[in-house]
Amino acid sequence: MSNFSPGTGALISTVEVATQATIDAAVASAQAAFPAWSALSGAERGRILTRAAVLIREYNSEMSLLESVDAGIPVSETEFVQVLGGADCFEYYGGLASNACVTGQMMDTPHAGGHKDSFCYTRREPLGVCAGIGAWNYPVLVMSWKVAPALACGNTFVYKPSECTPLTALKIAEILKEAGLPDGVFNVVVGDRTTGPMLTRHSDVKKLSFTGSTETGIRIVKEAAETLKKVTMELGGKSPLLVFEDADVDNAVGAAMMSNWYTQGEICSNATRVFVHKSVKEEFVRKLVERTKQLKVGDPLDPLTHVGAMIMPPDNKTGHMDRVIGYIERAKADPRNKLILGGNTHTIEVAGGKGGSGNEGCYVEPTIFECTDDNSELVKEEVFGPVMSILEFEDEADAVERANDTIYGLGAGIMTNNLARAHRVAKQFQSGNVWINNYNLTPSEMPFGGYGMSGYGRECGTYAIDNYTQIKNVYVEMGDVDSSCYP
Ligand code: NAD
Repeated sequence: MSNFSPGTGALISTVEVATQATIDAAVASAQAAFPAWSALSGAERGRILTRAAVLIREYNSEMSLLESVDAGIPVSETEFVQVLGGADCFEYYGGLASNACVTGQMMDTPHAGGHKDSFCYTRREPLGVCAGIGAWNYPVLVMSWKVAPALACGNTFVYKPSECTPLTALKIAEILKEAGLPDGVFNVVVGDRTTGPMLTRHSDVKKLSFTGSTETGIRIVKEAAETLKKVTMELGGKSPLLVFEDADVDNAVGAAMMSNWYTQGEICSNATRVFVHKSVKEEFVRKLVERTKQLKVGDPLDPLTHVGAMIMPPDNKTGHMDRVIGYIERAKADPRNKLILGGNTHTIEVAGGKGGSGNEGCYVEPTIFECTDDNSELVKEEVFGPVMSILEFEDEADAVERANDTIYGLGAGIMTNNLARAHRVAKQFQSGNVWINNYNLTPSEMPFGGYGMSGYGRECGTYAIDNYTQIKNVYVEMGDVDSSCYP
């Protein structure tokens, strides 16, 4: 399978598409490693994960470069946020591996039928072989959020990165080995959409964690049901950001930019529907346009770039850019939307020269529309590119109702200096994540996941432990068996 760099269109690697035999071998290797890995103490497992975090930081420059070449994300993001975010995640779960939340609880049970001193305790036990299937938009983080908690809990793992971005998962596998992870505990299989189902259907895989589109998620849930696998679904979104009249407008502009231009708009939780109060809309739009015009769109490897390249699938090099431009063109033709900035593809000159090979990157300008109808295609559907819709509101209750009028429920944001309003609105949002006076920050401590068609289960924080453990209850009788009901 060919792997292209979104920044240049150049072929950067050719990777194997795993066959059923490869998948079986990876699962068998994970299964063979499970008894010894799960028998280690949490502290011993944690030590290896913490060492991996140190190594990921040491390899940050190399990893960031790889991630930027492979995914088209500006190196300023991969180097300062995304790879370090992966390191933070391994460090967090390394520290948590021996914590009580990964072990269990003890409860007194002074009830009829048993002695008053009887009690029960729970053991959180690993599931066995877990699998992860990832999306391409921020590959190191998507993978770390699955692998680190799973290994901390004593599971072994088989991970399939997206066919668009196979490289950094392979590098993490090398780093984990260098950190002392025993062979077989973590396995990477590369492949495309024919490979994922082999993991979904595999009877020896006990848990599947998926990040990707809602459409694929639904297919996976149906297939995973055949083997009664536990599944976690991190799916798409169309999130709202509400800017109230009492907000700091400069901060609100900053939050709207962070929730639309970051990773060239290819972020599941992005707030692509920005609802702005009528009284501050003119100022908000003016400042937003002024700042957005200053963004540098271009080569992901240039440290000054703010907006990188659209992902390049192996079988259709301009596929995702074409999809995003399709949304833009249809929105331009729809009188319910007014284009106020951007709206075009963008070409750059890179090594190889204009017209030569290696300058066929996929770039889309940061694009802003003012929209008058919440039901237009642009406002309803996930575009997954740098395209923001601005909508106007006057009344808080109406804004919340409109914000919640979506099949998705991944993120939501509110910009206000009114404390009571902030919490009142946060409570009413129908989404798994709410940001007050900021947007898109995802530290490892914070649970992340969706409501509705954005999926279920939570990654990160102590909540992710539920994904990778099963609970065994042990009742302990402290007296005689009371069988007096029988002769
Ligand atoms: P996708 O659904 O096309 O593919 C995701 C992964 O699933 C890839 O590895 C692919 O090979 C695999 N796959 C495809 N068909 C499969 C099948 N039938 N069975 C098993 N595996 C299969 O998604 P994408 O285009 O890679 O990613 C973009 C989507 O991911 C967007 O909708 C975005 O919102 C979502 N996403 C969600 C989160 C989150 O945390 N909620 C994070 C990142 C991305």
